Amino acid sequence: MAVEPQADCLFCKIVSGDVPATVVRETDTTVAFRDINPQAPTHVLVIPKVHHPDGASLAAAEPAIAADVLREAGEVAAQEGIGASGYRVVFNTGSGAGQTVFHAHAHVLGGRGLQWPPG
Ligand code: 5GP
Ligand code: ZN
Repeated sequence: MAVEPQADCLFCKIVSGDVPATVVRETDTTVAFRDINPQAPTHVLVIPKVHHPDGASLAAAEPAIAADVLREAGEVAAQEGIGASGYRVVFNTGSGAGQTVFHAHAHVLGGRGLQWPPG
């Protein structure tokens, strides 16, 4: 079940256009935009237009849209030219893992060497 846009959600406001963002791709169900505090030469966030608090909640409620987010992560990597060198797709889930915005989002990171484990 889709959750209505949340008045206090930053990413719902980016979806509605009330908060500006540098959008690099958009589909019927997703928006991809540059992270305001990039952690790599390419750092793009892919979000569903519908509000769910994290990636797992999105996948449980609307698996087709979760698939859209994952597919768009790959499209962003291709568009940004990082697909061949390798990139990382991250869903921080919970404040203990560094999640600060509780609207599902995939970080797409690349353009530099990426260590594993990430720390
Ligand atoms: P999280 O920490 O929840 O996994 O990721 C949230 C991300 O949103 C962070 O990387 C942060 O830099 C980014 N962010 C926070 N506020 C804004 C904003 O107003 N615009 C954009 N483009 N990114 C933001
Ligand atoms: Zn939201």
